[in-house]
Amino acid sequence: MTGFRSSVPPVSGWASPGWLSLSFALGPDPLPYWWVFSGCLSGSTALGFPYGAVPLAYSGVVFAYRRDPERPGGVGLAFTDRLDGVSGGAFGSLNLAGSGGDEPQNLRANVGLVSTTLGIASLTGVHQVHGRDVLAVGPDGAATRLWQSDDDLPDADALVTTAPGVGLCIRVADCVPVLLADERAGVIGAAHAGRKGLLAGVLEAVVAAMRQRGAADIAAWIGPHICGACYEVPPEMAEDAWARLPATRSVSRHGTTAIDIGAGVASELGRLGCRVHRQERCTAEEPSLFSYRRDGGVTGRQAGIVWLAPTSGAEKPSR
Ligand SMILES: [Zn+2]
Repeated sequence: MTGFRSSVPPVSGWASPGWLSLSFALGPDPLPYWWVFSGCLSGSTALGFPYGAVPLAYSGVVFAYRRDPERPGGVGLAFTDRLDGVSGGAFGSLNLAGSGGDEPQNLRANVGLVSTTLGIASLTGVHQVHGRDVLAVGPDGAATRLWQSDDDLPDADALVTTAPGVGLCIRVADCVPVLLADERAGVIGAAHAGRKGLLAGVLEAVVAAMRQRGAADIAAWIGPHICGACYEVPPEMAEDAWARLPATRSVSRHGTTAIDIGAGVASELGRLGCRVHRQERCTAEEPSLFSYRRDGGVTGRQAGIVWLAPTSGAEKPSR
């Protein structure tokens, strides 16, 4: 299933069945019952659900972009937005990172909602530091399991794996989340490409790590990020980026110097031989997305997630 929120029917084939609500409530880290039911009701209302009398037909998270695996061993992709979670205030509501100061139990609940809705056993992440280090994630993803904690994650700005059922997760709020896959080779990757990481070569590093594991024909998906008209920066910072990666040249909507990191990412991915798919949604302009710059630094994080479906096919989400 592929689609933007605005273009999908209110309840489509991938909407989780009602019994999933019970699985949230009865799981090892249960959500409160009141949330399960109010979430169903508010979700159905927000989506214009036409059958209000049976709101339990809808539960779980609706994504900014979602493509489920089409076969056992296939690749799944998702970009979250800030809707359908449990966090409040500046983190409202689907915050997926603990770095900003959100309550740990909210983070765990949101991570659980996302992984359950996508049908991924393990959602893994890293402590992102605007560098170019790549973490190889094993089958259990134990060291990086976001369900358990957002503390003590290893420092890195990209992840790769060949393990089915492990969701590689990059958290952002203006920077560019990049998901990569060679479906035939069964190799996936994810990268955090802000200005610094992009210029430091994080994309070159993640593509090299994927090729080491057998990837040849790599497709890349660029998720929602701040656009070239919104990302105004001082002239010296802009000129440094433009000199090192000319595609980043941009002018802000105020006529001042700016950086188009999305164009820079697309250019770099093209140079590295990847097929590029772009999302042109701007985090700073869309209220449904977290934006560090727009929200004055105190905000949540949305995520880009890529995973390989189990080869048995048993865990494929029901349709
Ligand atoms: Zn913009």
